[in-house]
Amino acid sequence: MMGCIFCRIIRREAPAHIVYEDEHTLAFLDINPCSPGHTLIIPKLHAQRLEDLPEEEAIALFRTLHRLIEPIQRAVGADSTTIGINNGPESGQEVPHIHIHVIPRFRGDGGGIIQGVARLWRRPTRGEMERIARRIRNLVGT
Ligand code: 5GP
Ligand code: ZN
Repeated sequence: MMGCIFCRIIRREAPAHIVYEDEHTLAFLDINPCSPGHTLIIPKLHAQRLEDLPEEEAIALFRTLHRLIEPIQRAVGADSTTIGINNGPESGQEVPHIHIHVIPRFRGDGGGIIQGVARLWRRPTRGEMERIARRIRNLVGT
């Protein structure tokens, strides 16, 4: 897409520290890293959310993620990573071109866990959990 910063990086119209590229995906260092080696992996096809991507592009994205985790960790001496997607504006997504964050983690780095991104005001009841699960099952279909 024309004005999209990540599409501009793909077209080499904007600079980036690129670490990997293939037919379907590109990976480069985040300009404002949470930790050394913080990398973004993107599909070359412009789409805002994971569910907007054709399945094959989503699979290609995950293949690149799988391929890059160890090299990223080794390059910065990390033993773990936090991997996440801000999927849509309400989740805090700022760049409207889907990207997977790969954030190297270090003992005592002061960071949090994925489950810290939202806080329920109360625990759902068993009945509510069952209703939600049933609704999701029905919507997924098979
Ligand atoms: P999100 O959309 O997931 O909330 O965050 C977007 C991420 O992209 C941020 O971590 C931000 O630092 C990074 N970012 C935004 N613009 C650029 C850019 O022009 N180049 C690079 N390398 N990273 C960017
Ligand atoms: Zn784009």
